[in-house]
Amino acid sequence: MFKPVFDPSLYDTATLQPSYWEATATRHDFPVLRGDVACDVAIIGGGYTGLACAYHLAKDYGIEAAVLEAGPIAWGASSRNGGFLSFPPSKLGIGEMIARYGLEETRRFFADLRAGADYPRQIAAEEGFDIRLQGDGTFDAAHNRHAFEGLKASAEAHEHVGIRTRLYTKEEFTEIGHGGTEQFGGLHVDGGGGLHALAYAMGLAQAAQRRGAHLYAKSPVERWERQGALHRLITPAGTVTAKRVVFATNGWTPDGLHRSIDARVWPALSNIVVTRPLTEAELKAAPYVTETPVSNTRKLLFYYRLLPDRRFLFGARGDTSGSPQAAATMRAWMERRIGELFPAWKGVSTDYFWRGLVALSLKLAPSVGRVPDDPSVYYGFAYHGSGVIAAPLAGRYLAQAIAGSGEVDVPAPLAGLPPRFPLASLRRPALALVYAGYGIKEWLGDRRPSRS
Ligand SMILES: Cc1cc2nc3c(=O)[nH]c(=O)nc-3n(C[C@H](O)[C@H](O)[C@H](O)COP(=O)(O)OP(=O)(O)OC[C@H]3O[C@@H](n4cnc5c(N)ncnc54)[C@H](O)[C@@H]3O)c2cc1C
Repeated sequence: MFKPVFDPSLYDTATLQPSYWEATATRHDFPVLRGDVACDVAIIGGGYTGLACAYHLAKDYGIEAAVLEAGPIAWGASSRNGGFLSFPPSKLGIGEMIARYGLEETRRFFADLRAGADYPRQIAAEEGFDIRLQGDGTFDAAHNRHAFEGLKASAEAHEHVGIRTRLYTKEEFTEIGHGGTEQFGGLHVDGGGGLHALAYAMGLAQAAQRRGAHLYAKSPVERWERQGALHRLITPAGTVTAKRVVFATNGWTPDGLHRSIDARVWPALSNIVVTRPLTEAELKAAPYVTETPVSNTRKLLFYYRLLPDRRFLFGARGDTSGSPQAAATMRAWMERRIGELFPAWKGVSTDYFWRGLVALSLKLAPSVGRVPDDPSVYYGFAYHGSGVIAAPLAGRYLAQAIAGSGEVDVPAPLAGLPPRFPLASLRRPALALVYAGYGIKEWLGDRRPSRS
């Protein structure tokens, strides 16, 4: 019914990705929606945004919510991500954000994100589940000498908005556990770490259910009708009638369900490979021993972390087609790149490869709010590949708004819908153009003569 942006294989909700997370955590079953039910709030999408919204509506305000998920609960990015608790969820630099939204609102945004970095630990302790936290904060790694200058500026910008950082030279960074050919210094950003993506999603889902939320799996919303002030969401085997609706579909947001949301989300693919367990000798040879997640400074960045069983998780942007053939090519390229970054690991086999959709937008920052011409409809999306902190935060903001005056009170960078793509079908070619531009910039940057 909905026209997919990428290859149809990416929208097959009957299939789970063969990820490391699926292999190392237990999925819990949730019922399919059958028959007609009524509740206060219907939430479309059962990932971190929808689950956190349902959890807080039920626990904090006693508001009955029903989550409708097209696949198994947390079928989308919330079971496929790298588990990095990293921020900001935006493609705007901190300076650009300050210029656009002002210093106070940017500081408020970062304060909420920093607090959000502690949220998984807090909710896991409160609700009694294990998210297998690792590391402390996150690192940005300079991928060349020039990028280290950028890290110095980034350190200052972070401090300016209230986030503590610590800069490491190449030698110091090697000393604390990150060597390799694309490491020219690092910036430690306070807050966060790494978690088990699926364990977190399942913990949130079970907590929401225990607190009184209704979670329905394999129940895609196919149609949306109005009955006066009420919304009626129609799935293959049942309907939900609700006073309010929350869009929590992020990278899988379908066009054609609500005209105010159509063509606002710009989906992009991200891929992950996980190696076989590495021996202590291999880790020392790289050297690579830190458990704190790392992103490098490439525009099309690599993100990586050491997992508890000494496997190396390595993520990169995806292709722009989404076909299974393109996925196989991406996997081979990522395996090769691991060996180029860490020559001691050349040829190390990978046991897992999977992919999923992140959501970008023309605003370059997330959008969390309420549809202006349809104020009983709320949305939270476009975390720009960094939703592990931002998505539950969005869910909480929306729960607060629904339980309160209805108005969504968020820091200015999050407010308002992004502009629409004038032609929705141009989103894929536009992404290919952006990637090509970044690729050329990086190629030129890598060839700039170094002063040292
Ligand atoms: C490979 C990969 C790596 C990533 N790594 C990181 C990372 O390390 N750190 C980080 O911060 N972020 C990361 N992200 C991003 C992060 O995972 C997402 O921002 C976050 O999970 C978004 O949560 P969500 O609940 O908004 O969306 P999702 O978890 O994607 O959930 C949306 C759900 O909506 C459902 N849906 C869509 N249409 C309908 C419909 N009509 N009816 C019912 N349900 C519907 C979908 O089935 C889907 O399950 C990564 C993403 C990917 C794909």
